[in-house]
Amino acid sequence: MNYYSSSIAQLIEQFTKLPGIGRKTAQRLAFHVISMPNQDAHSLADAIVTAKESVKYCKVCTNLTDQDTCNICSDKRRDPLTICVVEDPRDVVAMERTKEFKGYYHVLHGAISPLEGVGPEDIKIKELLSRLTNQPVDEIIIATNPNIEGEATAMYLSKLLKPMGIKVSRIAHGIPVGGDLEYADEVTLTKALEGRREI
Ligand SMILES: [Zn+2]
Repeated sequence: MNYYSSSIAQLIEQFTKLPGIGRKTAQRLAFHVISMPNQDAHSLADAIVTAKESVKYCKVCTNLTDQDTCNICSDKRRDPLTICVVEDPRDVVAMERTKEFKGYYHVLHGAISPLEGVGPEDIKIKELLSRLTNQPVDEIIIATNPNIEGEATAMYLSKLLKPMGIKVSRIAHGIPVGGDLEYADEVTLTKALEGRREI
């Protein structure tokens, strides 16, 4: 038996596809949308479509941006000799919040995970390598998550980059093992950055 009209049921269905949203929350969100002023509901729908259609990969660091080159890569005041490699665009935000890192970033969009069938070619490693052929870099700081996938990715990158004469370091202290970079507070992340070690 259908308790809702089909359009409400459909809205609930769409919300349940979002990460972290269970059935109950989806219902709550759907009813909230229904009760919104028309203008607000349109703004929400427009924001989703506009973001989806305009956001693309930065041609330098592969972070998400709505320009060809993201704001960070366009900022010429940063240190071009240091690149911090992260798994996810949200990790860039987390690092930027520390205000400690002055170099540029490279976003992998994932980590190597043989168990889930994710190999080096499935994440943005070749983009990093082609970037390094055009630009001299002294140090690459690998800030992948401190879990099995993040460590595997760090080791893979280290083996690849060291023969190129680049110092490769890994953030270490402060981030709990199995933790997510995204959820680390600024102090923890600052400590992790300071305590990086060469690998
Ligand atoms: Zn960029």
